[in-house]
Amino acid sequence: MLPFFDYTEVDTIFYEQHIAPRIPSKIFDVHVHIFQKSHVEMIPEKSVKAHWASECAHVLTCEDTHACARELYPDTEYGFAGFPTASPEADTKGMNNYVAKMGYEGKCVPLMMVRPEWDPEEIEREFLAGDFVGFKPYPGMVKGISSGEVGIFEFLPHEQWEILNRHKKSVMLHIGRKERFADAENIHDLLTAREKYPDVTIIIAHLGRSYNPYYLRIGLGKMGNPEGFYFDTTAVVNPDVYDMAFAKIPLQNILYGSDMHVLLWHGKREWDERNYYNFTRENFSWNTNRKSPEEEAAYTIFLYEQMKSILDAMDRHGLSESQKIGIFGENTKYALRINT
Ligand SMILES: [Zn+2]
Repeated sequence: MLPFFDYTEVDTIFYEQHIAPRIPSKIFDVHVHIFQKSHVEMIPEKSVKAHWASECAHVLTCEDTHACARELYPDTEYGFAGFPTASPEADTKGMNNYVAKMGYEGKCVPLMMVRPEWDPEEIEREFLAGDFVGFKPYPGMVKGISSGEVGIFEFLPHEQWEILNRHKKSVMLHIGRKERFADAENIHDLLTAREKYPDVTIIIAHLGRSYNPYYLRIGLGKMGNPEGFYFDTTAVVNPDVYDMAFAKIPLQNILYGSDMHVLLWHGKREWDERNYYNFTRENFSWNTNRKSPEEEAAYTIFLYEQMKSILDAMDRHGLSESQKIGIFGENTKYALRINT
């Protein structure tokens, strides 16, 4: 039993009822943050508590990730693309070295976290030496601007895009700005990147942070044809978002991601038009809006809720076995140009 979650009978029953009969025999997860305690222990408590996700994130090494996957999905062969956690206060270089080493040992496919102020030549040298398949930049790495206002070319400057384009590599984009995927400037920047850097595989994380259908609907409307972009499903649980994604985005451009290290607590999520509300039974400081003890006792691991939501949507949309296998990993291998 791993210390990450209190895995009980409720979880076993949920897995056997909702997941085991439908989960594919292989998963390649496009979105996992891995690091060691020494890389993050200097982050002040205040920053950890500043956002719900950082408070409930675990220190998760590469080995831990595989151990979690074995426990959560015992019948499934699991591989993943791994990258550092995105805290400006963490040891980003140390994490990049660690991720590269894990990649070298064949335990994950590594992406490099970049900071916007880093010297492009040095980045390129380390990128090639580490045999990374892409970059994972982050809006929160821009100093002096809140991530609610950071544009794509501010957190990933053009010189860094050029490195990726030269080497035909990938970028995992967690977009900033308050309106997320619905933001007209974000869409404009994405279209600019697609045109200017045609050899970069652009993965839009969290379906553009569309945790509610509102953002995806507006964003896809502004974008027009989403060809040429990949979208990961990381941390998306809302069934209506999956309905929209499966109806409007080419299925071969949708990639399963878990965001492991964050979503290992027990709970559920509710939504209104633009916000989501997490409910959990774990003792996080944000856990103030609680349901009855009976309801809380029935919660399962949040990653299971996400998995069920995807599998249900696949059934509703009548996806074929090969389309399912695609979303659960083959599309990612193609997008990242890897053959693992
Ligand atoms: Zn993430």
